[in-house]
Amino acid sequence: MRISIKGIYDERFKRPLEHIAQLFFEESEVVFGETENEGLTIRLNYQCDHTGLRASGVIQQSDIHAEYQKVFDLHLSEKEVFKQVKHTVSYVYLSVLQQYTGIIQKWGILTGIRPTKLLHKKLQNGRSKEAAHAELKRDYLIHDEKIELMQHIIDQQLTAVPDLYDLQKEVSIYIGIPFCPTKCAYCTFPAYAIKGQAGRVGSFLSGLHYEMRKIGEWLKQHDIKITTVYFGGGTPTSITAEEMDLLYEEMYQSFPNVQNIREITVEAGRPDTITEEKLAVLKKWNIDRISINPQSYENETLKAIGRHHTVEETIEKYHLSRKHGMTNINMDLIIGLPGEGVTEFHHSLQETEKLMPESLTVHTLSFKRASEMTKNKHKYKVADRTEIVEMMADAVSWTEQHGYHPYYLYRQKNILGNLENIGYSLPGQESIYNIMIMEEKQTIIGIGCGAASKFIDPNTGKITHFANPKDPKTYNDRFEYYTEEKLRYLSQLFQ
Ligand code: SF4
Repeated sequence: MRISIKGIYDERFKRPLEHIAQLFFEESEVVFGETENEGLTIRLNYQCDHTGLRASGVIQQSDIHAEYQKVFDLHLSEKEVFKQVKHTVSYVYLSVLQQYTGIIQKWGILTGIRPTKLLHKKLQNGRSKEAAHAELKRDYLIHDEKIELMQHIIDQQLTAVPDLYDLQKEVSIYIGIPFCPTKCAYCTFPAYAIKGQAGRVGSFLSGLHYEMRKIGEWLKQHDIKITTVYFGGGTPTSITAEEMDLLYEEMYQSFPNVQNIREITVEAGRPDTITEEKLAVLKKWNIDRISINPQSYENETLKAIGRHHTVEETIEKYHLSRKHGMTNINMDLIIGLPGEGVTEFHHSLQETEKLMPESLTVHTLSFKRASEMTKNKHKYKVADRTEIVEMMADAVSWTEQHGYHPYYLYRQKNILGNLENIGYSLPGQESIYNIMIMEEKQTIIGIGCGAASKFIDPNTGKITHFANPKDPKTYNDRFEYYTEEKLRYLSQLFQ
């Protein structure tokens, strides 16, 4: 759908208007000022003065229109003013598109990744639940169902981490290992097929050991505690058992008080990387939280998306992990994989029932720009919006019936059906790291390839992002520089 916008010509509106358009139309393009015979023309206007901020939207050659106004503080910074204007314009724009298409967006005008943050902020600022919920409904057009979901999640998070709002003086650590047995079709993570890369893996690991030592040294010197550690990637179990052993030994030697870290997780996402030897290494270092990701319980699907492991192998490796003392296992499923509909997804839930992992993360497929799947979209047939919604509803009722609670959620752009990814867990088995990364209440130091650091000022909450290089070659050449930069940020924040 081509949408011509009249009335406002500021390019800063382009991306937010495009994000909203994508909620309604598979393919959409927003242009300013042009009049086309095809597509939609929407006139948007706004005014602000001491009486408030007002916006209106009209779809031309129709009687569809919307208006919105809010109180407005004239003393805000320029950036803050634009944020308010964007909010108001988005409100009328979404309203006219809802009327035009008949599609109601349950997340309202929110297109961001972390909706729960908004509710956390209101509650932390002293709003009552009732008042905060009413504001989300009135100002963001969010539906009760999603507000209830957010509240439920927040309640779970605060049960799992009662001091969530007081952890700003601690940090969590993410360690990125960018290798996998093969690359999956939907993947945009830094993941390189490990075969034939022995030399590069070796250099990468020495860089990683260096980073761990330096960061650990700094944390010890400044007496800063680590809340959680997460090994992700890639697949951190694609390196050898010996390499894993040395890495965890480094962690114990370099990081402060490892025995007091609340949670250490290792993604063993690809079942084809799990061996008895590697499980024994995990156990040796007291790591018992891992993730084994089936994604689907259909062999044909796994083949189509390039996973190169079978359903049988997932189940076998799950039992093997249990045998070797893994007491907290997460499993990921994806809704909307190519060729899958309600029946296939329900089958995946039935198979999950036989295993009952401590936590289950249900993702909805998103077409990320850089993935093989997006580049060759025509090759992959995916379910339509109605079916996706049905599958999500199945996940919600299945988890409810089996004692799982939602405890974190995030959304993505281009996510099928404008749904969300939800992490469920059995009571008391929530991943604290996932809560930390979603709610952005403390600094996360990213170490290794593609690891993104988020430095959160313990006093103001201001977030600064800093990313390590994604490819092993650049990382191997420059890891010292990236370590130095992170230490510099840390020194500024924790003086
Ligand atoms: S296993 Fe995970 S990180 Fe590796 S290629 Fe597949 S999706 Fe990407």
